[in-house]
Amino acid sequence: MATKKLYQDDVYQKTCEAEILQVEKEEDGTWLVFDQTVFAPEGGGQPSDRGTVLEAAAPLKTAKSAFIDRAEDRGDQVFHRLTEDPGFRTGDRVILSIDWAVRFDHMQRHLGEHILSGAFWRLFGGINRGFHMGEDGMTIDIAFEGDLPGGGRAEILPDDRLNPDGGLDDRDLPDRVTWEMAEAAEFEANRVIQSDAPVSVRYFHTRDEAARMPVRKAVAFDQEISVVTVGDPAAPLDCVCCCGTHPSSAGQVGLVKIYKIEPNKGMSRVYLEAGSRALVNAQRHFNLLYELETALSAGDEDVLAKFRGRAEEEEAVHGQLTALRRRVQTQEAAAIAAAPAPFTCRTYEDLSVDDLMQIGRKAAKGRAGLLVLAQVPDRTALLFAGDGLDAGALTKAAAPAFSGRGGGKAAFARATFPDEAALRGFLTALGDRMKE
Ligand SMILES: [Zn+2]
Repeated sequence: MATKKLYQDDVYQKTCEAEILQVEKEEDGTWLVFDQTVFAPEGGGQPSDRGTVLEAAAPLKTAKSAFIDRAEDRGDQVFHRLTEDPGFRTGDRVILSIDWAVRFDHMQRHLGEHILSGAFWRLFGGINRGFHMGEDGMTIDIAFEGDLPGGGRAEILPDDRLNPDGGLDDRDLPDRVTWEMAEAAEFEANRVIQSDAPVSVRYFHTRDEAARMPVRKAVAFDQEISVVTVGDPAAPLDCVCCCGTHPSSAGQVGLVKIYKIEPNKGMSRVYLEAGSRALVNAQRHFNLLYELETALSAGDEDVLAKFRGRAEEEEAVHGQLTALRRRVQTQEAAAIAAAPAPFTCRTYEDLSVDDLMQIGRKAAKGRAGLLVLAQVPDRTALLFAGDGLDAGALTKAAAPAFSGRGGGKAAFARATFPDEAALRGFLTALGDRMKE
């Protein structure tokens, strides 16, 4: 027996009574089929509803209840998955309730996407070839293909964009969405939202019937097709096949905002958000900007200039720092070279391991004995050996007693230690060995 799909008649119905027709145990959980449902299944790029099922006509304390996290359309039946099965049985009378905040969020986002896609189509002949609705945002892929999309109709385009055959004149088709085009489409989409144009859904049994509507995309289904129209069906602001749920008027979308465009497989991927999510994003972005401006003691008009000024300063400071480090490296190497000894050990707090590497290389040239340079914060020792000594062998012999890791060859070795005491123990042990 088929499930009566109440969400098709009234998207604002949040709860209903129902009878369980089937209980199916599947690998991913228990699925219930009801005689009717307010749960809109996954479809048209829209995630499914979620909500609860509660045993009717039983005392609340003992009534069976469960959470429904997914609804799936399987032909004329809608399957509902339980996160936990309290033992529902065929014939049980239940009350179904959807999570309305989740549903309305879906509805706002879905219709926002329709309206923006309609704007790209009407303004530029851009065709929505892909749609994704995720937790982190929505994307649409806009293509410019010259010919009208198979089955798509030209009525909703201005006459001067059509060629004599009624097709889209592709001579001046853009090859991608520019930011200026995105802003124009966004402005147009929000104009449609502000006009609070009505949204109507019509159901058709066959593809031919549906294709008589001025849809902007080819009808991709053979039967049970729903066509969603924004505005007057005689001159729609948008018209497309879609099995999702949509608010009854454009104004309920509230806001559509585009964030980014990037090339994707020959198309333009447009990142957008709609509804309350667009507003929340706007708040977050404003707060970020406000914090940035406060940190830079700037306002809208000079925050970018101040930021760029900082970046230039940083680059200049970096250049100076590099020059100073080179000078320190050379001076330190010269000081070490001026004091030859069989064993020299120096520790550093403020120079990097990389600096010590440069110093050691310069100072060890032609030098006899063992030179050890230790970087204390990084707990690292560099050993430079000359004159028949073997830095690698010395490290291998002395480091393990202090949990040191590392090694090397005769001329150079390095070792790292778990803490400062271990590093200093290793340096002392090296000195003792060199005295022997
Ligand atoms: Zn839709």
